[in-house]
Amino acid sequence: MVRAKQILKDIFGYDSFRPLQEEIIQNVLSMKDSLVIMPTGGGKSLCYQIPALIFEGLTIVISPLISLMKDQVEQLRQLGIKTALLNSSLSSEEYQFNFQSVKSKTAKLLYLAPESLLKDEILNLLKSVNLDCITVDEAHCISEWGHDFRKEYRQLGNFRRNFPSAVCIGLTATATPRVQDDIMKNLNMVQPKKFIASFNRENLFLQVSPKRDSFQQTVDFLNEHKNQSGIIYCFSRKQVDDLHEDLSYLGFSTKPYHAGMSDEDRNKNQDLFIKDEVQIIIATIAFGMGINKSNVRFVLHHDLPKNIESYYQEIGRSGRDGLRSDCLLLFSYSDISKINYFIEQKEDEKERLVAKTHLETMVKYAESEICRRYPLINYFGESYHNDFCGMCDNCLAEEKEMADITVPAQKFLSAVKRTGEKFGANYIIDLLLGEESDRIFHNGHHNLSVYGIGKEFDKKQWQILTHQFVRKEILVRDLEVGSLKLTPKSSDVLFNKCKVRGIIKEAKPSTKRMKLPAGSEENYDHELYELLRKKRKSIADDKGIPPFVIFSDKTLVQMSAAYPQTENELLGISGIGINKLETYGSIFLTLIKSYCTRKNIKTKFSSNLTTGTSKQKLKNNSGKRYIVIGEEFNKGKSLDKLAEEYNVKPQTIISHLTRYVTEGNKVRSEGIKEKISIPEDKYQAVFSSFKEEGTTTLSNIFEKFNKEISYVDLHLLRIIYLNENILS
Ligand code: ADP
Ligand code: MG
Ligand code: ZN
Repeated sequence: MVRAKQILKDIFGYDSFRPLQEEIIQNVLSMKDSLVIMPTGGGKSLCYQIPALIFEGLTIVISPLISLMKDQVEQLRQLGIKTALLNSSLSSEEYQFNFQSVKSKTAKLLYLAPESLLKDEILNLLKSVNLDCITVDEAHCISEWGHDFRKEYRQLGNFRRNFPSAVCIGLTATATPRVQDDIMKNLNMVQPKKFIASFNRENLFLQVSPKRDSFQQTVDFLNEHKNQSGIIYCFSRKQVDDLHEDLSYLGFSTKPYHAGMSDEDRNKNQDLFIKDEVQIIIATIAFGMGINKSNVRFVLHHDLPKNIESYYQEIGRSGRDGLRSDCLLLFSYSDISKINYFIEQKEDEKERLVAKTHLETMVKYAESEICRRYPLINYFGESYHNDFCGMCDNCLAEEKEMADITVPAQKFLSAVKRTGEKFGANYIIDLLLGEESDRIFHNGHHNLSVYGIGKEFDKKQWQILTHQFVRKEILVRDLEVGSLKLTPKSSDVLFNKCKVRGIIKEAKPSTKRMKLPAGSEENYDHELYELLRKKRKSIADDKGIPPFVIFSDKTLVQMSAAYPQTENELLGISGIGINKLETYGSIFLTLIKSYCTRKNIKTKFSSNLTTGTSKQKLKNNSGKRYIVIGEEFNKGKSLDKLAEEYNVKPQTIISHLTRYVTEGNKVRSEGIKEKISIPEDKYQAVFSSFKEEGTTTLSNIFEKFNKEISYVDLHLLRIIYLNENILS
């Protein structure tokens, strides 16, 4: 394992392993079969790449998609690792070259498509060298129960029999136990060890907003993500085409991607996106499998996904580099009926039922008022402890003013009752607003006494009220036909036997990006970052490779925060190992140094990345809420007092204070310490963990202390730690 750590640092340029990577590598190195379940972006590749560099013989990697293979091989070559690939897309010279590099035992890794395996030529080649490890990436493709079954994967079990001494490692992001069992069985794994990593992707900011003017909401969201790569998912091909046309008309850099286009066009658009030639891909769900672009900064769901799995896979395509990424879902009730319509078309009754249950769970997620990570992560069968993630809309929402909403509830319920419980929310709302719609006239509903009795609220407010009625179970949605129906509780409300309390006005900002306090990564020199990004792009174009293969966004962000001036300092940046240093070090150092000279920036390099913050930037920030809160806290107001005054949860105040100290300000620590429940002599152990693992995420530290220190304590301890360890 000493070797493994050394390789992690020298070749890959990373300081520490992500959760489970170390255990998995150890298991593989001791020739024990391993099944690895980690979410997209969790860092599965290192689990076989590092052993491959330690094994004497060859490691083969079976991967289903040629495009994915190409990028991975390119990434490894950029790290100076001898890697071969053999598949049908190669020219005959390339094929021969790769073939020879395996035969002569130069290559440490060989990427293969599953259909190549049973070719005699390949089998003989593999038999002529010493095969140490068989890696099966995207291993769920072996299972008929998975969402992406490939019949060629079924041959892997037989193939394996030819190499009894090689260890086998299967990797997937699919969490269902059934698929996992299938993988182990079909790969003929011998007493396999299963490693299941957490499905919590802490760097994804999760947000759901009621869909109103979806185009304007989309434009606003994109404007908040200028110069960033992202994906917009739509329900239908037509929507993709329309949105692409409208957005590109406004000057956004977009391309469409859906199953109605030719393979050629699709591949072209995907390639443009991967190479940062195009910033935004607008796609149906068909997009993303073959993508391991690490710098996708946002995913916008323009329409409701059909189920949580798809939603999770889709948002998971952002933020692979570990930097914050924004995931916004626009949610409307009419999307439910659209999906229902498709479900109804299914022949098989059982299939219909399954699809409906999935949809129901998705809707519950969208309607949820607690931390989004609760329903999401629990869905994957993982228990989740943190009641405040600080990275979702619900956690950061202001505490809402509760009002008596009995009267609007009664109006709404009467309208549902009078129209025979046959209509959906939008129809009922139109009725209450007295809209002059053909449908209402046609049904004769303009003659009902409820027609036009709800004009005190607008459409948006009624929609929010409707969400609450459903949540409080005074109404149910009939998923079968998409209509709203009364429940046993409804009559209590109608007959004044109980009161209904809720919120009237929309309390959440629509698509406003909520700032996170946590990581220090938000503090970097944006101007320098842009220069580095341009440089990366021009090198990538010269070489004909995707920019993220050269350096990840995270690497560039760290450079623009720390202003490294020497090769040694550059090695301290995440993602820079020896080979990358040799290939690109001097180009980037020259650029950074001349920038610093020009701007008269004198920074001492420190592994503490916040030192890059300029005083200038802090000044511009004054007047912001976290600054105001930080200052008031320092004047003596307690956490609870501030929470009360701002009408927010105490955790929100903690988030603001974290941000305040992250930017180099000090807080009075006694006000924090009095809220920490562990004794002071235990602080040091936690601080050492921060030192080792960084302060961006807390879950690794929570696990490290066997869940014995609460998240609230960890949040507070992080403030104390940052308070003492950030140079201002
Ligand atoms: P997966 O295959 O699980 O989707 P990858 O193996 O492609 O994920 O890794 C996602 C990203 O995380 C890559 O950019 C990778 O270089 C980075 N990464 C992996 N392990 C580490 C680590 N220990 N420290 C920092 N970054 C890492
Ligand atoms: Mg992978
Ligand atoms: Zn949350």
